[in-house]
Amino acid sequence: MEPLIQTKKCSKCGEVKELESGFHKSNRNKDGYYSSCKVCHQQHYKDNKERYRENHRQWAKKNPERTREFKRQWAKKNIEQRKARALEYRKKNREKINERSRNNYKRDKERYQKYRDEHLEETKEYGLKRSVLLEDTIVRYRIRHRSGLENHQITPELIELKREQLLFYRELKNLKQEVRNGIA
Ligand SMILES: [Zn+2]
Repeated sequence: MEPLIQTKKCSKCGEVKELESGFHKSNRNKDGYYSSCKVCHQQHYKDNKERYRENHRQWAKKNPERTREFKRQWAKKNIEQRKARALEYRKKNREKINERSRNNYKRDKERYQKYRDEHLEETKEYGLKRSVLLEDTIVRYRIRHRSGLENHQITPELIELKREQLLFYRELKNLKQEVRNGIA
C-alpha cells in the first residue's frame, strides 16, 4: 500500500521529511524535488553567501542588458509597493497627519509673523525703495491688476509705457499736493 503522504530522506542531514513541505522543487531530479531539504539548502546559501554574490556579480557583468532590465523591474515593483504602503499609512493615520499639518501651518504662520515684526523697518524700506524705483515686477503687477492681462502678454514696451504713466500720475499728485499747500 502506497503512503498517503510522500516523504524523502535528506541527502545532507539525513532527516526524513514530507516531500512537498520539506523540499524545494527541482526539475533536475526524477521526483521533482531537490535531494537536500529546505533547511539544508538555506544553510548552504548562508555558508556560501560570498561565493554566490561573486557569481552573481560576474553574471551581471556578462549580461548588462538583462541586469538593467532586472533592476528596472525591481525598481518598478518596489516603487509600487512603497506607494501602496504610503497610501495605507495615510489611511490609517489620517487624523494624526491632519493634525500635524495644522500644527505646521500654525507654526509657520507664527514664525512668519515674528520675522515680519522683527524686520518691520527693513521690510517697509525695501517695499518703499522698490515702489519708488518702479521696478519691472511692480509695474507688471500694476498692469496685471488693472487690465487682467496675463504675464506673457505684457511686453517690455508696455511696461515702459505704464511706468511713464505711473510717474506722470505721481508727479501730478505731488503737484496737486503742493498747490493745496499753497506752494505753487
Ligand atoms: Zn536536510
